[in-house]
Amino acid sequence: MARIDLGVATGVLATFLGSDPIRVGGTPEQQAHWMGRLAEEGLLMAYGATEPAAGSDLGALKTRAEPVRENGEIGSYRITGAKQWISNGGFADLYTVLAMAPGGPSWFVVEQGTEGLSHGQPEDKHGIRASNTAAVLLDDVEVPAHHLLGLVEGQGLVQAQRVFGYTRLMVASFGLGCGWAALDRAIDYSLERKQAGSTLSEKQGYTHKLIVPHVIKLEAGRAYIEETARRIDDGEGILNTEGAIAKYFSTEAGNAAAEAAIQAHGGYGYTKEYMVEKMKRDVRITTIYEGTSEIMEMTIGRDRWQEHLKTRGEYYHDRAKGLEALHSARPEIGAGSAALASHALATVMERCRIARLTRNQHVLFKLGALIAWTECAGALAMRARDAIENRLDEKADKRFSADALCAMARIMSRETAMKVAAEGMKMVTGAQNETSAGFTDALHFGEIVQSQAGSIDDMNYIADVIYGRN
Ligand SMILES: Cc1cc2nc3c(=O)[nH]c(=O)nc-3n(C[C@H](O)[C@H](O)[C@H](O)COP(=O)(O)OP(=O)(O)OC[C@H]3O[C@@H](n4cnc5c(N)ncnc54)[C@H](O)[C@@H]3O)c2cc1C
Repeated sequence: MARIDLGVATGVLATFLGSDPIRVGGTPEQQAHWMGRLAEEGLLMAYGATEPAAGSDLGALKTRAEPVRENGEIGSYRITGAKQWISNGGFADLYTVLAMAPGGPSWFVVEQGTEGLSHGQPEDKHGIRASNTAAVLLDDVEVPAHHLLGLVEGQGLVQAQRVFGYTRLMVASFGLGCGWAALDRAIDYSLERKQAGSTLSEKQGYTHKLIVPHVIKLEAGRAYIEETARRIDDGEGILNTEGAIAKYFSTEAGNAAAEAAIQAHGGYGYTKEYMVEKMKRDVRITTIYEGTSEIMEMTIGRDRWQEHLKTRGEYYHDRAKGLEALHSARPEIGAGSAALASHALATVMERCRIARLTRNQHVLFKLGALIAWTECAGALAMRARDAIENRLDEKADKRFSADALCAMARIMSRETAMKVAAEGMKMVTGAQNETSAGFTDALHFGEIVQSQAGSIDDMNYIADVIYGRN
């Protein structure tokens, strides 16, 4: 859907988001009632969590749900407050609203038409203009007590957390779809547009800056999304950290790809007719809603930091060992470089622990970013292996051959290893105000540099694949 129009995709997402608190938090009777009506009546939903003063920090919410007692029993709740930036806010038939009850934040179902419920004008947005976004106002809105999801107060934030794994995966897919749609336009354009005697697709300086790196990052994002989706389907749990990694990496990649697609069209890209500027405006939202990229960096950094501590620093060394075993069996998938990245990450994290550098929020966020890169590089290597061994899921995207995925995985892993080492060194040295003794050796910097051999050949090959030259 996001390939076609991210605004429409957002309208659909809002019904999923809106019904999630029912799906994860409702009693069986509430689920049967509301989900049944959703299916039978085709109801549109909206998810009302954000408030003017409670965005990334939902705990700061001010909307109140006051119990109304009848004969000592709670018969209903009166909800008062304001919700901000609500997708489908002006159109929904049903709203799930997060409000502070005496027992803590709780989800309530509110039907359109309930007295006291109103909405603001549609927001005049930068992009996703096909999606309605509006403030939702609740002025003493009375709902029966059985509209409290789960019938127990205070479960709201836990219920919201329980769906982030896959709701963030949905937004990750939006970044992937819209980023690819823009890049495909740039690819087509560069096959037609001639400058200095040949098409742009023939020019290495153009393809290796504006096309190839974006293809690789989007495919690394796809590998991580599909792997996480499969794990969620297999019942491995809610996988919130993985959802955050998928969202962070794929939406940043989609955004960068759409930006490059404008550049790839030159002046034409800057006009509405060529559509890429519209896609760029649309995809921009994906790094903001469902948790901003910075909140994703914080979540990823915090969660994996706990794993680092729990395993006494071995978490990413252990992952690296798995990748080294993979490299021995399949040297062509770049797992050796992915292992170097993973070891380097473990080393950087350990230096941060010893010098207590995560007291700097910047360090924690930066670690979150490096973790996302490292895990996505590993996922792309695994996907290349699965492609070679014909083990890709039947629903997996098959646009690229196993050989192409191998070359992409090699490029992604090399780049990640270099990024983790260089940015890790910069960050640790910058935060400590001195060079960490023996750091470059501990990072295996020499090996990481050596592993860059073959990068340009691989990029040439990927350009040939994209343009059908082989
Ligand atoms: C088009 C659109 C549709 C939306 N749809 C919905 C919807 O359907 N339902 C819903 O409930 N919400 C929705 N939202 C809200 C969206 O999820 C929030 O806008 C988003 O979570 C960010 O909150 P905020 O806008 O208050 O920004 P803030 O939280 O104020 O963030 C501002 C900046 O500060 C950074 N920041 C925030 N906290 C920290 C911190 N602790 N440390 C460091 N940096 C920080 C952020 O990364 C960001 O760069 C929508 C928003 C938009 C724009």
